[in-house]
Amino acid sequence: MNMQNSRVEFSNTEVAFSHMSDAGLSKARLLFRSFNFPALLTLGPPLANLAISMGFKNLIKKTIFEQFCGGEDILTCEKTIQRLAQSNIGTILDYSVEGEDNEDNFNATCAEIVNTIDAAANNNKIPFSVFKTTGIIQMDLLEKVSSGQGLTGEEEAQWQRGIARFHKICAYAEEKQVRIFVDAEESWIQNAIDRLAEDAARRYNTRQAIVFNTIQLYRHDRLEYLKAQIVDATWYLGFKLVRGAYMEKERKRAQEMGYNDPIQPDKETSDRDYNEALKHCIHHVEKVSICAGTHNENSSRYLMELMEEKQLNRNDERVWFSQLLGMSDHISYNLSHAGYNVCKYVPYGPVKSVIPYLTRRARENSSVAGQMGRELSLIETEIKRRKEKV
Ligand SMILES: Cc1cc2nc3c(=O)[nH]c(=O)nc-3n(C[C@H](O)[C@H](O)[C@H](O)COP(=O)(O)OP(=O)(O)OC[C@H]3O[C@@H](n4cnc5c(N)ncnc54)[C@H](O)[C@@H]3O)c2cc1C
Repeated sequence: MNMQNSRVEFSNTEVAFSHMSDAGLSKARLLFRSFNFPALLTLGPPLANLAISMGFKNLIKKTIFEQFCGGEDILTCEKTIQRLAQSNIGTILDYSVEGEDNEDNFNATCAEIVNTIDAAANNNKIPFSVFKTTGIIQMDLLEKVSSGQGLTGEEEAQWQRGIARFHKICAYAEEKQVRIFVDAEESWIQNAIDRLAEDAARRYNTRQAIVFNTIQLYRHDRLEYLKAQIVDATWYLGFKLVRGAYMEKERKRAQEMGYNDPIQPDKETSDRDYNEALKHCIHHVEKVSICAGTHNENSSRYLMELMEEKQLNRNDERVWFSQLLGMSDHISYNLSHAGYNVCKYVPYGPVKSVIPYLTRRARENSSVAGQMGRELSLIETEIKRRKEKV
């Protein structure tokens, strides 16, 4: 088969769900259907916590947790890592515990991220590591530094400890030659995150892109930022390109505090800048590596076209596609089947601690969120296809 010219069909549910048994598909259908009950979404998080305290943790574990998470720790993610690897899909171990802002938790999270780097070292089943800066540095410090406010003596000491954790992670990633994503967060703390990530890239990206910053193209100033980075850097650059996850929160805060909304005026403008960012990075691929973190079919298709125009191999190490575990398998599995580099975020952590993450996934896949239930309809298509085949 001429791989370079074969067309990738995201509608191919046979490939998309080849890793799932009939029983697994029926279970997933039931789960995605349940997201369409608004009462369940509102009551879900408190009910989940109650169920755990009453000893029904297994119920959550066997349903929503199993769909969207790899396990409770790195070891128990092994089954998921192997299952994805069988389809040539890489795992990104995403420690998704959202704990309190205190020094002990920050140190524990930092140690856990180091463990994920160890798991990824010399392991092509885990092509990247990832972390969130708010997991290792106080949110209010990131906010103060981002807006240029001065720090008190004690705050300055805390800030320095935070910077030390950030660099410990990135230096270790460089030592082990493991590429690492710095996730993007809210705009009011992102300046500080950008400065830390830029500094780390300058230090550790001398031989290849190790530290990847994340660019949110739902912000109207980010395409320009990305382009300036590419002009300025004399080292390798790595970017994870996403649209952005905090739109409602961003708009609400801007309105309440009376400053200009940092978000694009509409979805089309976010889409336009996202695709423009893909194009710009591919045009500078000699210096820039990218990971397209998206569930958008058009952007994924566009990136394939750009690679073909630039005559890049489908498995060029500088270009990756990424989706979340349990979502958009039709994109992940069809892309990897066609020879592209694909990896999935595999969130993990104790069941109780990942409830906020699971709640966000449930809302995103509900009719309440205004989505058309794409996951559900793909699952139904595949169940129907299998029945007709028999
Ligand atoms: C592997 C991976 C890693 C990720 N990492 C991060 C991260 O580090 N930081 C982060 O913030 N997010 C991250 N995300 C989430 C991402 O930013 C998006 O929220 C999510 O993927 C949905 O966007 P999409 O590109 O998949 O597709 P689509 O469904 O096509 O786009 C939906 C997105 O478009 C934008 N949008 C929707 N309506 C409007 C509107 N009216 N005006 C302007 N923009 C609009 C929003 O960003 C919305 O999330 C990640 C996602 C993936 C798959």
